[in-house]
Amino acid sequence: MERIPLGNTVFEGRNNAYLIPGDRPTLVDVGVATDAVRQDLHDGLDALGYDVADIDAIVLTHWHADHTGLAGEVQAESDAAVYVHEDDAALVAGDEDALAEERRISERRFEEWGIPEEPLDELTTFLGGHEELRGDTVDVTPVTDGDRIAAGDDELEVVHLPGHAAGLSAYAFDGDDGREAFVGDAILPKYTPNVGGADLRVDRPLATYLDSLDRLVDLDFARAWPGHRDSIDDPAARARVIAGHHRERTERVLSVLDEHGPADAWTVSAHLFGDLSNIHILHGPGEAFAHLDHLVEAGVVEQDGSEYALAAADAEASELVAVPETKR
Ligand SMILES: [Zn+2]
Ligand SMILES: [Zn+2]
Repeated sequence: MERIPLGNTVFEGRNNAYLIPGDRPTLVDVGVATDAVRQDLHDGLDALGYDVADIDAIVLTHWHADHTGLAGEVQAESDAAVYVHEDDAALVAGDEDALAEERRISERRFEEWGIPEEPLDELTTFLGGHEELRGDTVDVTPVTDGDRIAAGDDELEVVHLPGHAAGLSAYAFDGDDGREAFVGDAILPKYTPNVGGADLRVDRPLATYLDSLDRLVDLDFARAWPGHRDSIDDPAARARVIAGHHRERTERVLSVLDEHGPADAWTVSAHLFGDLSNIHILHGPGEAFAHLDHLVEAGVVEQDGSEYALAAADAEASELVAVPETKR
């Protein structure tokens, strides 16, 4: 398996595509649809002795444009089958109804979160200005947890890990030291993947994501190959560290409500993250919302319209966010 580094000036830094060579040459993720990234992908394949037309399959970890943008044009040139989890399939396919529904949910949330007019305008302009990164429409083959997909000379197993995106899926395979997986943005080596703002369709985003971290600890992969940056040598340990970050963040959300009184998600986000620009206008309050929603479900915070208020003086983050035990 070979990593193909791709540029990405827009979102979380550089992206990775991966090539699984063999009988059925397969790409895992493809990067945004820009001239520069198209060139990166062509150059990367060329260096490995492959051409876009040789690709037989593309597996996508989730619907975000920095992972899927070039899928349509690679498919047009190669006739490759494109696999993605069923929960993200319609968005990747460019289905108008699914895109409109996603926009409708987003607009409702932005209002609920209390994003003021000026940053909201900036965010809307930012998102509207980046729609072309999604690329051409794709003919997708939906997959679900446990499915097996022929790739290279072996196969990939679909492991559904929702949270950052509703359909986010890892693809597991037998590596040199045991079971390994392509994990997209389920876990990243340097920072904590956004939860709450990255896919507004996800119900109970924090609890959903914590379950996925728990599953990653359970699966205890020998190595993970993320959508950004370098491979992760102990994915279970990384999942535990990220769960710990969420526990700390929950603690901070509780103290913001304690010190400042009732607040909406935008205000909580400002206390946590300060001033925000471009995509962070979405990710900041989204993250605050994911935590507030989690606290409401646990009964320690009460929601009245857009406002959240502390309902229990003795709430303990350690009881509200579980950090999974290592299974070794
Ligand atoms: Zn993502
Ligand atoms: Zn990403």
